[in-house]
Amino acid sequence: MTDESKPIEVYCPICGFKETLNADDARLAGLSREEKIARIREFQASDEPFFTCDGCDSEKESAKILEIR
Ligand SMILES: [Zn+2]
Repeated sequence: MTDESKPIEVYCPICGFKETLNADDARLAGLSREEKIARIREFQASDEPFFTCDGCDSEKESAKILEIR
């Protein structure tokens, strides 16, 4: 399996929440795996994050902490 076909994973270092990400969102269309990760990280740092952590109390805060890998 090449890196390119490896699923992108979201991981919360606080509560251990982990999810494989379905990266076929229109905002990520046509990007390589590395570019998608970079783009998602930008979204996470913004006021409208892609993901929030279900396991954490503060969704806004946890969004910035989530690891995209
Ligand atoms: Zn969490």
